[in-house]
Amino acid sequence: MEQGDVATVRGLEGSTETGRQRPGRAGPVAPRPASRARLRPLALDDVALDPAGHLGAWQRVNRDVTLPHCIAHVEERGNLDNLRRVTGRADGDFRGLPFADSDVYKTLEAAGWELARGARPALDDFVDQTTRLLADVQEDDGYLNSYFQGVHPDRKLREFHWGHEMYCAGHLLQAAVAVARSTGRAHLLAVATRLADLLVRRFGESGEEAIDGHPEIETALVELYRLTNESAYLQLATRFVELRGRGLLGPDRFGANYFQDHAPVREATEPTGHAVRQLYLAAGVTDVYLEGADDTLLAAMEELWENLLSTKTYVTGAHGSRHRDEAYGDPYELPPDRAYAETCAAVASFHWNWRMLLATGRGRYADEMERVLYNAVAAGTSLEGDRFFYSNPLQLRAGHDGTDEDHPSGRLEWYRCPCCPPNLARLVASLNGYVATSDDSGLQLHLLTAGEVTADLPGGPARLRVSTAYPWEETTAITVDSEHEWTLALRVPAWCREARLSVAGDPVAVSPDADGYVRVRRAWRPGTEVLLTLPMPPRVLAAHPRVDAVRGCVAWARGPIVYCLEQHDQPAGAPLEDIRVAAQEAPRAVAGSDVPGIPVVLVGQGYVSRADGRQLYAEGAAAAPDGEVVEVTAIPYFRWANRGPAPMRVWIPTS
Ligand SMILES: [Zn+2]
Repeated sequence: MEQGDVATVRGLEGSTETGRQRPGRAGPVAPRPASRARLRPLALDDVALDPAGHLGAWQRVNRDVTLPHCIAHVEERGNLDNLRRVTGRADGDFRGLPFADSDVYKTLEAAGWELARGARPALDDFVDQTTRLLADVQEDDGYLNSYFQGVHPDRKLREFHWGHEMYCAGHLLQAAVAVARSTGRAHLLAVATRLADLLVRRFGESGEEAIDGHPEIETALVELYRLTNESAYLQLATRFVELRGRGLLGPDRFGANYFQDHAPVREATEPTGHAVRQLYLAAGVTDVYLEGADDTLLAAMEELWENLLSTKTYVTGAHGSRHRDEAYGDPYELPPDRAYAETCAAVASFHWNWRMLLATGRGRYADEMERVLYNAVAAGTSLEGDRFFYSNPLQLRAGHDGTDEDHPSGRLEWYRCPCCPPNLARLVASLNGYVATSDDSGLQLHLLTAGEVTADLPGGPARLRVSTAYPWEETTAITVDSEHEWTLALRVPAWCREARLSVAGDPVAVSPDADGYVRVRRAWRPGTEVLLTLPMPPRVLAAHPRVDAVRGCVAWARGPIVYCLEQHDQPAGAPLEDIRVAAQEAPRAVAGSDVPGIPVVLVGQGYVSRADGRQLYAEGAAAAPDGEVVEVTAIPYFRWANRGPAPMRVWIPTS
């Protein structure tokens, strides 16, 4: 099946995957027609991001810089040689962490989604050569993992709590799905299904009871099921979900919470342990719900989400406050300077929220996708696309020791554990798959960005041309080309008050429904213009009083963007640590900044009370803001650390 077509893979014959009126190339998450999804993702070809828009520009940088950077690094850092040495084509020791194969797979997945937008010889070569290598490394029974094959061949599929074998397998499956859907070529899929079949034989019904310490295989198996219609993959994913929380992983120095193996998923509704594992597991549980329809799973995920969002999520949408085990802290334990906030956790949150959106149709999940994407995910990459953060603190102090790659003062080229850069690459390459959905009533637009959206709706085709400078400007113009009646649903984010809408020049009263959408139902005429205005006055945010770490501080935001103060933009002689602002005073938005990548800054009045030489501890109450009055300037948080190391803070003291 080396050069086979996807249709030759068993179960695919005659499948249109998404139940659409015409076959389309499905994106990263494609629930089956009989699933419980309330909303259906559009096909990959149905959404084209405009490179002049915010997300389209990001996708272009990802294609031109980030993805080639990842491909170069999995070569230079030995990930590909780890595979070659299994076949005798490379010498030397295994390099990197035991799950180094996963970086190759995530890079392959990113390449796969990118190839959906057209052939690119360098990407095609990478996919084809790496696939041939993987096929050579794969054992006759389907086993494939360069660390265990090359270093510990006697310990294969035995060390579930730290081995990451099924985690790596999951990323291979997802890469294979991406390449198959985008290119129609099944060569990588053939490798992936041989490995998945081994897992089914070994761990399926009546097989060995085991789960992987790092979730990922669950979503991957569900997606492989969606692509191939092979129900054994869904059954195995369901089994892994059901077996979690029964102590199968055994004791660990971080405790069973670390792996979310402390309680069954229906009872484990307090977010806990390693943040990426928690969120990947949640995405897997939601996928199993979508295809299996056990309502108790969705109820548990909704409770988990509410706990997470009300007590353990940073204002940027980031997750995880403990460096020791990359984990959630206690409720309200959200220190800005010691935020762990791994980029992968932000990516994982985006993935989970998309599945919750498909399951429920509720805009709060799209709101969260927007927050985490524009802030926590975006902060992970430099403006040029070739430097990355692993942890994403919300404050960097003057004098910070940035020598540890666990907490550097700026983005790094690569990491000892380089999980984040290729994770960013695969998400950004597939962003067009997350912009809009359809259902029997019409189209839903969840992320506002410039581009084109087309869909075959039950009554006929529809096309939207979206022109917008969102998230910097308030008004989005949508030209609808269609000739039948359907409903256009536009998300009104929870941060937005008094949204305005006009259709064909006529103002329309806007009142978002319970799901957070305004819905316009009409018999459309070609060229009908819809104008949506989401006013973005700068907002002053305060944290829940129990978040001790930022008590007495405020954060500034505008639209979906969280801002920060960076030393570069403050007046000379005003150390960032000594700047205060008034609690109730909103800054003003100023467009036309000359700093690259920052169209809008926030400018407000601050006070500088220099504290050099003060005793570390002294008697007396904290003073109200006073001192020299200065103008302080805030930039979007995700653009910090692009002009050299400098102190930065999201939360600004008011006293
Ligand atoms: Zn990571």
